[in-house]
Amino acid sequence: MNSPAAPVTIRRHGTVAVVEISNPPVNALSKGVRIGFLEAIRTLATDASVACLAISGGAGRFIAGADVREMNLPPEDPLLPDMVAAIDALDKPVIAVIDGAALGGGFEIALACDGRVGSSSAVVGLTETRLGIIPGAGGTQRLPRLVGMARAIPLICEGRILKAKEAMEMGLLDEIVEGDLLATAIARAPGWGKRRVSSLSVPAGDAGEEAAASAAALKGAKGVPAIGEAIRVIRATGEGDFSAGLARERAAFLALRQSPEAAALRHLFFAEREAGKVPGLEGAAPRAIAKVAVIGAGTMGAGIAVSLADAGFSVALVERDAHAAEAGLKRMRRLYERPVKSGRLSQAQADERIARVTPTADWQALADADLIIEAAFEDMAVKADIFSRLDAVARPGAVLASNTSYLDLDAIAAATARPQDMVGLHFFAPANVMRLLEVVRAEKTAPDVLATALALARKIGKQPVVAGNCDGFIGNRIYAVYRRHAEYLVEDGATPEQVDAALEAYGFAMGIFAVSDMSGLDIAFAMRKRRAPTRDPNERYVSIPDRLCEAGRLGCKAGAGWYAYDSTGEKSLDPRTEEIIAAARSEKGISPRAFPPEAIQLRLISVMANEGAKVLQEGIALRASDIDLAFVNGYGFPRLKGGPMFAADQIGLDKVLQEIEAAHADGGAGSEPSILLRELVRTKGNFTARTSSYRTS
Ligand code: NAD
Repeated sequence: MNSPAAPVTIRRHGTVAVVEISNPPVNALSKGVRIGFLEAIRTLATDASVACLAISGGAGRFIAGADVREMNLPPEDPLLPDMVAAIDALDKPVIAVIDGAALGGGFEIALACDGRVGSSSAVVGLTETRLGIIPGAGGTQRLPRLVGMARAIPLICEGRILKAKEAMEMGLLDEIVEGDLLATAIARAPGWGKRRVSSLSVPAGDAGEEAAASAAALKGAKGVPAIGEAIRVIRATGEGDFSAGLARERAAFLALRQSPEAAALRHLFFAEREAGKVPGLEGAAPRAIAKVAVIGAGTMGAGIAVSLADAGFSVALVERDAHAAEAGLKRMRRLYERPVKSGRLSQAQADERIARVTPTADWQALADADLIIEAAFEDMAVKADIFSRLDAVARPGAVLASNTSYLDLDAIAAATARPQDMVGLHFFAPANVMRLLEVVRAEKTAPDVLATALALARKIGKQPVVAGNCDGFIGNRIYAVYRRHAEYLVEDGATPEQVDAALEAYGFAMGIFAVSDMSGLDIAFAMRKRRAPTRDPNERYVSIPDRLCEAGRLGCKAGAGWYAYDSTGEKSLDPRTEEIIAAARSEKGISPRAFPPEAIQLRLISVMANEGAKVLQEGIALRASDIDLAFVNGYGFPRLKGGPMFAADQIGLDKVLQEIEAAHADGGAGSEPSILLRELVRTKGNFTARTSSYRTS
């Protein structure tokens, strides 16, 4: 019988012992690895024939970090600090042989060694803050000893991943080996000598630079508690001896590990990995995409073209006439101004990317495209016309996509003779910046077309979330309910600024009314008019935003919307809005009530989760975590709260159901509690646990 390969093995090369970790795919530090590693170190410590050790993760790897799944459970012995302490206690030189990712706990192990050699594909970094924690096995104490405090602070607080060359320049790698890395390391090891980082003192630094690095890291922290803790622990490195620093670090690590913020970030970490797994796509190979065409070069088309050009695609940007095509190119150029100004991109790089895009009014440019993304007006007649005409031009097998926000994708697909090639690619504004890409599966979308969309998302650095076809798909459908209930709160007595302040206190960068002003109130106004004939008469309707629009208050672009805006774009409260709200209340005989911020937050999170539950129940979303990803990456939902479904679980679904019953009484038809929510309350389940039933690994 074959036993599974041991996660840690020892191979001897003369006096050198190679300790090899093998825990595919990334050598995460699972319990079995920790046990095997400690056994190996203990054996080698007392073996007089061994002069030195090389720690290897095998070809193409080192150790990519802790096993994140274990972090939802209490820590189990032996711990990562035990591994690091065992290296530190050895009286033989140890070299880390890095042929891939040495991240988080993996890099902490490398830092405990006497030397680090890597191949040119080595990457290193202490990435723990990305998961809301800090390094917990000496990383915050050893890194400053090698690079100084002022450089260690941004590296740890930003969770930066360094490529081999940069790591070498900073002194984090001793050598980059071209050729056989392990053989070279084995040859070098006997002469290496001991150089424990723990015995070095922290290089004297410039206090001003350290303070500036801390201030910059805190500014970029976006409320992540781990950043403040990391700075505190790093800056105390020089106080007391090494073991005092380790104890401070460990205490902070353990407290952060069980914080709700870290749990939320872990949830999103898994959510991102799950989102690409779609049942039914197992055997589907993505179609090859080299040339892309975008139809419509407005706000979205220009942003989509930038996103594609950034990833190296050549793009035909097709407009109605030459003039509109030129305007589209100008729009694209403007989008490149900001990254050039901030220094993220050189003008030459921007020019190179812009040169990949060919603006044109000639439909022949569509003929050799492997993927055609339509981003024309949000009008069924316009889209149906475009797709029916595409049949004659697009090459067989080309993937056809629409960026529609709300329209029925099956109806658009019905306009072509190839509905199997059709998929929704719902980008978010600004399309070159926002990470979310809702991939909408129409009824006849072929599996390999969906697989192509997912592969494209990865290639252009977007987070895909697969949605079924319905009005507003996952994101806009839930958002519409959220907005409606925010308006009910206002009509019932809250002010728009109270609602916005409560949302901002919860962690949103902007409140919903400020966001509406920014996007323009006319878009939702047009949608409400479109839906008026089919609206359920029992759904409560708030006419305040219609009145704002009728008064010309279309948002920021008009200088007024829910708020008033001065010439610099600064917003202020507006008595005119208050009058409009007061008139609407008195017409309905509503006497205004007071809403504390917690009540506003509970109501709005609950209604999002309830609509999310309906979306799940109908199979529009595959899993609750996909909804969370959509809201965090497309709608500014605070990452530290994990998304509306995760947040509802944390609140407690019985409390959420109670709140939904009240929301139903306030909102009428369309606000009913979902069957799934009731079911989960009855069975004492939750949305996040339900997610796990879809896990395929
Ligand atoms: P827009 O009005 O800024 O741009 C539309 C462009 O399409 C215009 O430049 C127009 O000239 C061009 N166009 C119209 N008909 C055409 C045709 N037959 N052939 C070639 N070009 C044509 O609109 P937008 O905001 O960029 O929206 C485009 C699509 O993206 C819509 O379906 C919209 O719902 C969707 N969308 C918009 C946003 C947003 O926030 N603006 C977000 C997500 C999705």
